Amino acid sequence: MDKKNTLLYLTIVGIVLGGFCGWRFGHSMEQVAWLGEMFLDALKMLVIPLIVSSMIVGISGLGDVRKVGLTGGVTLLYFMITTGIAVVIGLVLVNIIQPGEGVSAAGVVLPERVAGKEEAGLVDIVKSFISSNIVESMVKMEILPIIIFSLAFGGVLTTLGEKGQAAIEFFDTVNLAIMKMVHMVMYFAPIGIFGLVSSKLGAAGGGEMFLAELAKIGKYVFTVIAALLIHAVVVLPLFLKILGKRNPLEYFKQMSEAILTAFSTASSSATMPVTIDCAEENAKISRKACLFVLPLGATVNMNGTALYEAVAALFIAQMFDIQLGITGQAIVFLTATLAAIGAAGIPEAGLVTMVMVLQAAGLPLEGVGMLLAIDWFLDRCRTSVNVWSDSVGAAVIDQLEKDYNLGGK
Ligand code: ASP
Repeated sequence: MDKKNTLLYLTIVGIVLGGFCGWRFGHSMEQVAWLGEMFLDALKMLVIPLIVSSMIVGISGLGDVRKVGLTGGVTLLYFMITTGIAVVIGLVLVNIIQPGEGVSAAGVVLPERVAGKEEAGLVDIVKSFISSNIVESMVKMEILPIIIFSLAFGGVLTTLGEKGQAAIEFFDTVNLAIMKMVHMVMYFAPIGIFGLVSSKLGAAGGGEMFLAELAKIGKYVFTVIAALLIHAVVVLPLFLKILGKRNPLEYFKQMSEAILTAFSTASSSATMPVTIDCAEENAKISRKACLFVLPLGATVNMNGTALYEAVAALFIAQMFDIQLGITGQAIVFLTATLAAIGAAGIPEAGLVTMVMVLQAAGLPLEGVGMLLAIDWFLDRCRTSVNVWSDSVGAAVIDQLEKDYNLGGK
């Protein structure tokens, strides 16, 4: 068995063992949280230098501005189409299953975490694209302005001739070095993932509390998971097969380390180094496509989050006995898509941006209180789908580039 496979199997053991210990020993597993936190911090430490260097190298590899525009356009189109399909699947299932019917909304209150976010709207999302202080954004891990800055910076470097080339080469080396560091960190994945999963399930009260929550809103959990599965197992593989011309099962296996990391960290951004590593090393996606599509995807392409927001909004409507007609559901469709774009790739970001969806559809914000207890779990599921969709996107763009020479120099 080669090194990669051994690591993958050990990581699976880490998740299973973590799940078992968290389930069985509950709160006492919080004592091993530090193992997970250290692993997560090590990944996060690499995110900013990786994004900056990836975007600069990625954009400079795409050649002239028109080709950048074309690849960028096709990438965004892929993000939009898959996000749209995900939301539709969520809406269809939530209308069929009606998980909110008969669930009592009595006593739910607006959680502190989302209080004060009522004003968040479309303008805020657009405004967040630009930062007045790029260093501050790096400190706060606000990824979108960093991506935009790095894209512009890399684009300008390509116009500076020899001197620009020297700078690009510098960032290229930075990128290679950071990827080597990613490899090193991944050796600790099994133990880090064990720490993350066991402590989180333990903190949520272990198996007993989990079952109690399921008993309360099990139908809702089922709806979200079923919709996520349809998207991940049927829709995305179709894109992969038809446009990416790859065997979905094989590709899934090649990306599985990234998907397991997404499940354990609940953060697309923290997973991004691993996603790039799997796509490049295991799946042999061109470096150009990986470096351009994956950091962008980790930030704006969140199929799972969009789907979840739509299901959750309708669940809340059903719970409060509010009828949302076609117009209401169209508003949910649009805002869920936007809220997912605006959500940061960090744990439970979707719960906060959901306020925007509820606000726009005229639904009671207190409904979020009902989702809180189980969100840590659904967050992991939707983050895995987010990362899977980014991975499929990289394969699709890679293939389209080869077929149509989209961004080739
Ligand atoms: N945790 C998700 C991610 O990082 C975002 C969310 O849906 O909360 O992709």
